[in-house]
Amino acid sequence: MSRAWANNAIETIQADFQRSSDTHLIKLQFDAFADIDFYLKDESTHPTGSLKHRLARSLYLYGLTNGWIRQDTPIIESSSGSTAVSEAYFARLLGLPFIAVMPKNTAARKIQQIEFYGGQCHFVDKSDQIYAESQRLAESLKGHYMDQFTYAERATDWRGNNNIACSMFEQMHYERFPQPEWVVMSAGTGGTSATIGRYIRYKCFNTRLLVVDPDNSVFYPFYHSGNDRLTSIGSKIEGIGRPRVEPSFVPSVVDEMLQVPDGASIVTMNWLERVLGRKVGPSTGTNMWGALQKAQRMKDAGRPGSIITLLCDSGERYLDTYYNPQWVSNHIGETEKYDVQLKRMVGEES
Ligand SMILES: *Cc1c(COP(=O)(O)O)cnc(C)c1O
Repeated sequence: MSRAWANNAIETIQADFQRSSDTHLIKLQFDAFADIDFYLKDESTHPTGSLKHRLARSLYLYGLTNGWIRQDTPIIESSSGSTAVSEAYFARLLGLPFIAVMPKNTAARKIQQIEFYGGQCHFVDKSDQIYAESQRLAESLKGHYMDQFTYAERATDWRGNNNIACSMFEQMHYERFPQPEWVVMSAGTGGTSATIGRYIRYKCFNTRLLVVDPDNSVFYPFYHSGNDRLTSIGSKIEGIGRPRVEPSFVPSVVDEMLQVPDGASIVTMNWLERVLGRKVGPSTGTNMWGALQKAQRMKDAGRPGSIITLLCDSGERYLDTYYNPQWVSNHIGETEKYDVQLKRMVGEES
């Protein structure tokens, strides 16, 4: 069978990559942490607005080089979020049909975004049906089920080759603490933390990896006790925390985990808007809360250094949810006590 189409598809993705520039590493300094520098790797500036742009690119290249994606192969994914948006973008670039499988209660705004990039949405009644339904759909359409939760960790080249870890460590080159004490990241597929953790080990850095996990996610209990029972409620922080232990979550490269209360994620997200002058998504709040906890330990121990965490997406996608106080009080609950803790930590007590 001719490889002409696949060759062209790979070149099309490479050309898209060549037109893109690297994402910024934003430096933050606070009076309360004079000897600690914070960095945010800003993944919101990708063409499709989140770190899932990297994942989608990797998954397409992996599928093409494996011969799984061919001319006219329909692409199926279980995602109602950023992954579906980014994969729809690449499907359109390659002229392939794209179908995202999602629960029927998915917000209209998200469906619109996927359709904006030419994707179709396919609905199931309950969220735990998305995996089996994606599989079934792929078989009946002779399509390819991308399966981000399985392939995220292996589709990305952990040795470097412009992966996110390689990029951020190189950007630290001229900083006063170029080798960070900690990298802090949350887990959705777990793919990003797997790439960062492996890269740290591969480069023999002393940096440690903290994975932060929201309420109602199974990753944190699984890491500590091997308990992989499904959680029943599901994470309320979009993009992170899962009801089942995903195959792409690699606990052996994680040095420590921290559970972050949802209220803490939200107040940190709001505080970051004041610090940065623009809105970030809720998982960035979770990440930054974890970074601040680590900074506090370093400060207490008189240990200077740097901490990197990720700005995963912008807040514009969440104006009617996490940025709506009424929605927050209905869905997340009281956040006041975390606001007090945060202000105390960053020295903004009134
Ligand atoms: C996917 C996602 C994450 C987590 O990244 P993984 O590599 O899937 O673990 C964090 N924040 C947002 C907004 C995401 O979409």
